[in-house]
Amino acid sequence: MGVADVTDVTDVTEGAEVPPAVVELCGVTKLYPGGVAALRGVDLVVRAGELVAVVGPSGSGKSTALNLIGTLDRPTSGTVRVAGHDVGALSDAGLSALRARHIGFVFQHFHLAPGRSALDNVADGLLYAGVPARRRRAAARDALDRVGLGHRLGHRPGELSGGEKQRVAIARAVVGEPQLLLADEPTGALDSASGAVVMALLRELNAAGTTVCVITHDQDIAASLPRRIRFRDGEVVA
Ligand code: ADP
Repeated sequence: MGVADVTDVTDVTEGAEVPPAVVELCGVTKLYPGGVAALRGVDLVVRAGELVAVVGPSGSGKSTALNLIGTLDRPTSGTVRVAGHDVGALSDAGLSALRARHIGFVFQHFHLAPGRSALDNVADGLLYAGVPARRRRAAARDALDRVGLGHRLGHRPGELSGGEKQRVAIARAVVGEPQLLLADEPTGALDSASGAVVMALLRELNAAGTTVCVITHDQDIAASLPRRIRFRDGEVVA
């Protein structure tokens, strides 16, 4: 790697190298139709390798921020950069490619396809990455092994517990080896034991190098993570 490449991806502060920003929000506002200001001038940086809890009261803008970071939506004003790309400068096709290559999502209610096996649900996580079917299934098997569900490949969501469904959803989110994993209340629909398994998995993925942002209302989970970003009334307050 040449010097130019290094300076492209690494900030240098007083001689100490800090990891590159994976997420950068600069003066971001989001107005919804009807005049709701969901975000009001948010500045935020998340660096490679971080594990961050996103916290704050209901309605404070957490999901809106996560959707913008996940490039599922565009800001009204301000800039959003993900994995070095200015989201506002990309076409819809460019955004899809950015998502497919760099971002994994986990949702509170799993969002699995009900009629499809765990293996197919996870393999579908690679549909937009242009991976051939056989390799999709092989990678899906590996990802399900990684979350401890190698023995449930043929089960449909209705045949799995809540915790197992969320582990399938995590396998789907990481099957493409994204650098950024976004989770919106991943333990919100789970009992505490299953929630602990899900959090342990997220920590493990983070330890292996994935940058992870988790929205949580669970104070114990938030307190256990290395960094908390607190929203209130559409602003980051801490
Ligand atoms: P949180 O995730 O912290 O609960 P949200 O980001 O979901 O907060 O919502 C922030 C504000 O934006 C709330 O007042 C909410 O009602 C509003 N909001 C969220 N989504 C929409 C939408 N699609 N249309 C209009 N208003 C919305």
